Amino acid sequence: MNFHVMTLFPEMIERAMGESITGRAIKAGHISVNAVNIRDFANNKHNRVDDYPYGGGAGMVMQAEPVYQCYESICRSIGNSRPRVVFMTPQGRTFNQQMAEELSREEDLILLCGHYEGIDERVLEKIVTDNVSIGDYVLTGGELPALVVMDTISRLVPGVLNNGMSAVKESFSDNLLEYPQYTRPEEWMGEKVPPVLLSGHHKNIAAWYREQSILRTAKNRPDLLEKAELTEKERQWLIQ
Ligand code: SAM
Repeated sequence: MNFHVMTLFPEMIERAMGESITGRAIKAGHISVNAVNIRDFANNKHNRVDDYPYGGGAGMVMQAEPVYQCYESICRSIGNSRPRVVFMTPQGRTFNQQMAEELSREEDLILLCGHYEGIDERVLEKIVTDNVSIGDYVLTGGELPALVVMDTISRLVPGVLNNGMSAVKESFSDNLLEYPQYTRPEEWMGEKVPPVLLSGHHKNIAAWYREQSILRTAKNRPDLLEKAELTEKERQWLIQ
């Protein structure tokens, strides 16, 4: 998976993606991150890429031309192909695990980060294929949302996680939240690890995981539970 990020703050992207699991994935060649500075495509001597909004109103708006030239340069760098362009915007569809799974099948993905009050609508209409929000709140820029999206997608790229299974069976994969996790020591501050996890009995452990996932989802995210595939027995057990 090759991420191309159109941004005014490429260092934010490079530094964050260069750390920890995503940093190792870049070194191993499982993913690549190409952060391109939109300012490099400014066509005035002060390198300005924003201007006042027509019609008045607060703040500045990013101009269409530098954004468009940045996009064209990315497309040229990958043999003139036209990958999907994900615009990070609070007005988009709310990002979730299913969207991450779908986007992870792309070979190249362009993420467009806005700043100030946003971007001239005309260039958005020309190049954007997907409008994605990370939640119903407004941030100062699209860089943190783009990092959220890239991090989530990266975990789904084969080879990025050591244990391929950990991305398959975890929260949201089947509309259930993940069960609670424990590690050494067996007792901490008088609290013991649930005995079943020390039993070595794989069938009982799997049944406990399932039960805990259902209980946790019912408590924290009952909206998800409606979409989860529960057996009739599990549904009956839950309403008792
Ligand atoms: N005026 C815009 C509006 O009301 O829709 C908000 C602009 S915001 C201050 C600046 C940039 O931050 C946006 O263009 C977008 O790229 C990014 N951004 C802010 N909140 C976001 C969110 N919840 N999800 C994705 N991107 C967001």
